Amino acid sequence: MSQNDSRTTPFDTLLVANRGEIACRVMRTARAMGLRTVAVYSDADANARHVREADEAVRLGPAAARESYLKVEAVVEAAKRTGAGAIHPGYGFLSENGAFVEALDAAGITFVGPPASAIAAMGDKSAAKARMANAGVPLVPGYHGDDQDDALLKTEADKIGYPVLLKASAGGGGKGMRVVEAPEQFQAALDGCRRESQAAFGDTRMLIEKYLTQPRHVEVQVFCDSHGNGVYLFERDCSVQRRHQKVLEEAPAPGMTAELRREMGEAAVRAAKEIGYVGAGTVEFLLDKDGSFYFMEMNTRLQVEHPVTEMITGQDLVEWQLRVAMGEALPLQQDELTITGHSFEARLYAEDPEQDFLPATGKLERFAMDLKGAGLDPRQVRLDSGVETGDAVSMHYDPMLAKLIVHGDDREQALATLNRALAALDVQGVVTNRAFLQRLATHPAFRNAELDTRFIEKNEATLF
Ligand code: ADP
Repeated sequence: MSQNDSRTTPFDTLLVANRGEIACRVMRTARAMGLRTVAVYSDADANARHVREADEAVRLGPAAARESYLKVEAVVEAAKRTGAGAIHPGYGFLSENGAFVEALDAAGITFVGPPASAIAAMGDKSAAKARMANAGVPLVPGYHGDDQDDALLKTEADKIGYPVLLKASAGGGGKGMRVVEAPEQFQAALDGCRRESQAAFGDTRMLIEKYLTQPRHVEVQVFCDSHGNGVYLFERDCSVQRRHQKVLEEAPAPGMTAELRREMGEAAVRAAKEIGYVGAGTVEFLLDKDGSFYFMEMNTRLQVEHPVTEMITGQDLVEWQLRVAMGEALPLQQDELTITGHSFEARLYAEDPEQDFLPATGKLERFAMDLKGAGLDPRQVRLDSGVETGDAVSMHYDPMLAKLIVHGDDREQALATLNRALAALDVQGVVTNRAFLQRLATHPAFRNAELDTRFIEKNEATLF
């Protein structure tokens, strides 16, 4: 689509097609910018915090997400009914759904996010890798060709050298992905991945990658406007994951040199420009011990962990998103962006670490954080929450209740503040992972920034 259509035009009413902390967080900035806010909700959320905070709210349907938050027609209808000129999708739900973006384009409603074509370009892992190779973005050594003959794939795997990682081209969420340690295991793993991928995505195409044994997950925040400008807002380290789910994130990534930061940042901007990107995006890389980095995927939305970037840059990324969606140029150029201090984010989940992280439900008898009592500086601590005391936590949606974000002059100070803030959190009535977060944040290996994507697995003995 051209650039002077509904994709980027001024608007005065913003519908937020999401729930929980991200809906509240987006509306906070929208309000500060003088926009009218519209919330949408399912029956389970009729009295949720994001509904209470909006100027207007529209019911979408029953509790099940596919009958409410994932229902394209219902969301478009809500925008039309309330005169919303733009929709912010948050993350999850419809945020990376090309058909949703096309429906908005057709209805003349601005999508606060990239064009459908950019979402599609990153949707298929094999196709995305081909585009990235084209843009000079480093890839994990591997095979992502169209020829899917079993014998050919085996030959490619042998050439790459074991261990290799088989990945479903159409994959996501860790499905259709297996490590193959040795050649004699290849065929069985291939058959297994194809079965899984067929069941989950209706597609059996595979790609093969060299399996890096101790990589870090380092991702770069990029931003592009509709006038051809693109910048990077530095990186985040999200290596602390449990079953591919991020738990603790930080910015900047420890141990980065200025040169590596610039190389990764510039590669990420090239990736975004290659696919005609507009808005906030994240280019995820694996960073190997030797300082080599490899493109993994691009998330075409605002990430859960965006606040750590806001803390170190002093920028409001949602404000940037809304301004870009209104057709404005990026607020700053690359040489005007700098890093100040260090930031951590801890994700507070309603789940029970003692019971294999089983999601927990119930009524929040208390949900508070006494900053003053803990002697914490409110400028250094931010609690992005979708709940308040008295709210019910249901089993219908993602169990993340809130994000605790801190800032300090350096990593050590920020970590000390994180620990004090975690201790000051007062949550009663619903089981959370708070104690697990405290064990992580006080762990000697974490304090020493001995990070890789298997951090939790490796330190299991001292974390549980
Ligand atoms: P999905 O889209 O299913 O989440 P990704 O390609 O994003 O799959 O990979 C998920 C996770 O698997 C990464 O965050 C990383 O921890 C690990 N991973 C992916 N590719 C490799 C690789 N080549 N070597 C080692 N670990 C990898």
